[in-house]
Amino acid sequence: MRLPYGEGLVGLAAKTRRPVVSEFARDHPQYKYFAETGEERFESLMAVPLIVRGTTIGVLVVQTREPRQFDDNDVEIFQTCAHLIAPVVINARLLSLVGENAEEIAKSSALLALSGIPVPKEGPKRPDRNVEYRGIATSRGVAIGPVYRLSAPTDLEDIVYTPSADIEQEAHDLREALHEARRELDTMRDDFGDQFGPDFAAVFNTHVQILEDKAFVTKLDTEVHQRGNALEALRAVLSAYRRTFERIEDTYFRERVDDVEDVGRRVMERLVGVRDHVIPLSEGSIVVADAILPGIFARLEIDKVAALVSEHGGPTSHGAIFARSLEIPAVTGVTGILHDARPGELAVVDGSEGRIFLSPDEILVSEYRQARQRYAVAIEHLDAMRGRRAETRDGRRIRVTANAGLVADLRLVERHGAEGIGLFRTEMLAFAHRGVPEEDEQQQLFERVARALAPRTVTIRTLDLGGDKGLPNVGVGSEENPQLGCRSIRLSLVNEPVFCAQLRAILRASVTGNVRLLLPLISSVSEVRRARELVEETKRQLRRAGSPFDEKLPVGIMIEVPSAAITSEVLARECDFFAIGTNDLTQYTLAVDRGNEHVAHLYDPLHPAVLNLIDQSVRSARNAGIPVSLCGEMASNPLAVSILIGLGIEELSGAASTIPIIKEIVRGLDSGDAAADAREAKAAGTAAEVHAIGARRLEASGLLEHPDLGFWLSSIVRGT
Ligand code: PEP
Ligand code: MG
Repeated sequence: MRLPYGEGLVGLAAKTRRPVVSEFARDHPQYKYFAETGEERFESLMAVPLIVRGTTIGVLVVQTREPRQFDDNDVEIFQTCAHLIAPVVINARLLSLVGENAEEIAKSSALLALSGIPVPKEGPKRPDRNVEYRGIATSRGVAIGPVYRLSAPTDLEDIVYTPSADIEQEAHDLREALHEARRELDTMRDDFGDQFGPDFAAVFNTHVQILEDKAFVTKLDTEVHQRGNALEALRAVLSAYRRTFERIEDTYFRERVDDVEDVGRRVMERLVGVRDHVIPLSEGSIVVADAILPGIFARLEIDKVAALVSEHGGPTSHGAIFARSLEIPAVTGVTGILHDARPGELAVVDGSEGRIFLSPDEILVSEYRQARQRYAVAIEHLDAMRGRRAETRDGRRIRVTANAGLVADLRLVERHGAEGIGLFRTEMLAFAHRGVPEEDEQQQLFERVARALAPRTVTIRTLDLGGDKGLPNVGVGSEENPQLGCRSIRLSLVNEPVFCAQLRAILRASVTGNVRLLLPLISSVSEVRRARELVEETKRQLRRAGSPFDEKLPVGIMIEVPSAAITSEVLARECDFFAIGTNDLTQYTLAVDRGNEHVAHLYDPLHPAVLNLIDQSVRSARNAGIPVSLCGEMASNPLAVSILIGLGIEELSGAASTIPIIKEIVRGLDSGDAAADAREAKAAGTAAEVHAIGARRLEASGLLEHPDLGFWLSSIVRGT
């Protein structure tokens, strides 16, 4: 039976996206009776919405014959069930679309509206030697090694497969292959979870679900009986899935085809007897793949991978996130590379610049070899010093913390000696999941991070999506100028249910006592007030529910818009700390898009205008007696350290791998000199003059002569 959206108790749960609980459902003002349901047998009702990426996709309902007072515990358990079931429902709905015609798919949901079939891109022809390719710089570092072309999905097409004469035997072999693939996925999921955290492992749940999908299994069975060939049956079913998924406009759902392909490949491998699922590699291989799929990390001997290069995919794909977390250099979106790269030929990968050279000449190789060697030695040397305190020569203590975003980052945070997490970018989890995760999932992650770091502080920033951090279906749709549009806190404040769910997650995680909450992209005091009202409302809810949290949870704001810096005196009275985000502050102060290569030469956080805004913000924080940190990329820039400390910054939060070097620079400084540098920099006319001030200080520190760090710092000084 059908009823309009929002009607009845089930509709109410769907529309408000909140649980509906009623001991005597019939007495509820929203109750609607429909004879077809035979509902008169039931007294009490509990309905909780099934939510996927902020959209209600269904409602889970329980009714009892005897009156029952559902308590908070019941609701919580039921919500947990709903949270687990929601992705299963959406996946099932997707899988059920296979074989439907275009109209059916379009009808099935607003999220799954149709566009045309995408046109495949053609890559350029490859010249012979020393060929340069450019792609997206996805994970930093340099690697030189032999190319390993990872079997593309199509490579299995070339396998000569001889089916059994007995059709039942073929069907049996296919079922066995499915079972084996399933066992393998279970093991992989567990291993991944142990090694990298549950957020990485979650992706395999989708894979398992595909393998268990009744329609998938039935289609395979039908095909194998019709064709008498298990491999052909598998190919036919996979291509039907591919065709269907490619016609879905929604990027998130369209990309699920990767999961189906990954699963299909795994089953094919089992079927044709490619038993050894770990692909043997030679040491230091450059793995060239169609896309960096999560499965790759489990199938490869990952310790032997020097770099990853992919034809498709961007820097926010699951795989890209994995590569960064594991500090494996990676370049994605390299058109033509899979076709052109020859197995075993030498390649150079520069993950910081997004460059690849195939068959490079001697000069190029030796240049990059030196860079790689120095980089490795410097990192090793610095890590050995990670335990040292960052204190200037005259005893001023500076906290050096890390920017992070996934459980996997914790390894690096520890390895490089971070004194806390100065910025936890919660949108990373949303990227890994390709959607905003549910409250419980967020809470578990935040609490895990907070416990791992305790007693060191973890500053969790609310979602900073939109602008250059777009996620399909999150946001207000396409905007003329997204960097000046509905991004970050603005998006959170127009989407309060998602924002409040995140606030609840952060508050619940704050029981550990070392959590701070950070609001991004504040541009006026009214945003702080509204956000804090919602924090207070969330606290009241949690108190009522008896859910513990840190009553004194500090709530801070990011200073990353000029208006915030200019009105920082007022803002400082409305919050508990400042975190200055120079990445955005620079783009908005200088009117230079941070992601536009055409104006990249104009983008410079060391511009005196930016420094003056930092100065103003620090002074306001001081006057109000609140702490102030800086968490833009600038915090990891050796040239900026003296000036920032001179401006009064108390905490620098940057890329984990740069923490030891920043600490070393701080230890060589005198705070009087730093203050003089800051004064001079503020009065400078250009960013170039400020670079010169920073370079002079590094030269004076003696660190340029350091046996391991000298080359690194010298190259920075030379570049000024
Ligand atoms: C910043 O803008 O400086 C910042 C730290 O935030 P993000 O880089 O995530 O925008
Ligand atoms: Mg920012």
